[in-house]
Amino acid sequence: MAWTCSGATSAQLIGNMQKAGLIHSDIVATAMKKVDRANYVLRKSRAYEDSPQPIGHDATISAPHMHAHATENLLPFLKPGSKVLDVGSGSGYLCAVLHHIVGPQGKVVGIDHIPELVEFSVENLKKDGLGEQLESGSIEMVMGDGRQGYAQGGPYDAIHVGAAAPHMPQALVDQLAQPGRMFIPVGTYSQAVYQVDKDEDGNVTEQELFGVMYVPLTDRKPSSSPP
Ligand code: SAH
Repeated sequence: MAWTCSGATSAQLIGNMQKAGLIHSDIVATAMKKVDRANYVLRKSRAYEDSPQPIGHDATISAPHMHAHATENLLPFLKPGSKVLDVGSGSGYLCAVLHHIVGPQGKVVGIDHIPELVEFSVENLKKDGLGEQLESGSIEMVMGDGRQGYAQGGPYDAIHVGAAAPHMPQALVDQLAQPGRMFIPVGTYSQAVYQVDKDEDGNVTEQELFGVMYVPLTDRKPSSSPP
């Protein structure tokens, strides 16, 4: 069903996904309609399809229904002014969506370990009209190992992880605010998305949501490795 949801514009794609029951929240739909997916993909002719797409460097921009699902899961923790971390930010698409929910008083940090993808995401966000937000710091794209998080920007009300971790990364759990929520795929051969909740007192609970197949969170390949 997801694959049939295409449109001539982002707004049409998102509208069709709402009709198909793939997006339930008006807040998420409104935010996604503000983001032009053509600014974040390599094959513009396929921008408005509900499918993942390669963006180079072994990375893919996730399918819009996965971005919608993750955002809806985190939504109770996404308020105007909230702080959010997107690990494995790739194209930058989800950072734009999250920004439109937490607003200019909020903060979205995207972290990726491939410098070319960080640069790609910055260019994409600028094309999408978010240059000012990058300048003001309400959106910040950083290069680094996302398994360590980005402690200087935290604690985070919400953390999204866009690649599968072999084990639950403790550094990310530590960087969750009290209260806070993380949406994270965990596993190697077999993967599942976990919802990790930290309550006001710092108690952490994990809930397995559903099986998935994400690209792994990895060590960066040395850029000048011998053949
Ligand atoms: N959610 C993004 C990209 C998903 S692909 C989008 O939809 O555009 C997964 C991303 O995780 C890739 O960009 C990859 O470079 C990144 N990644 C993999 N291992 C990482 C690590 N250890 N630290 C930071 N980023 C990592």
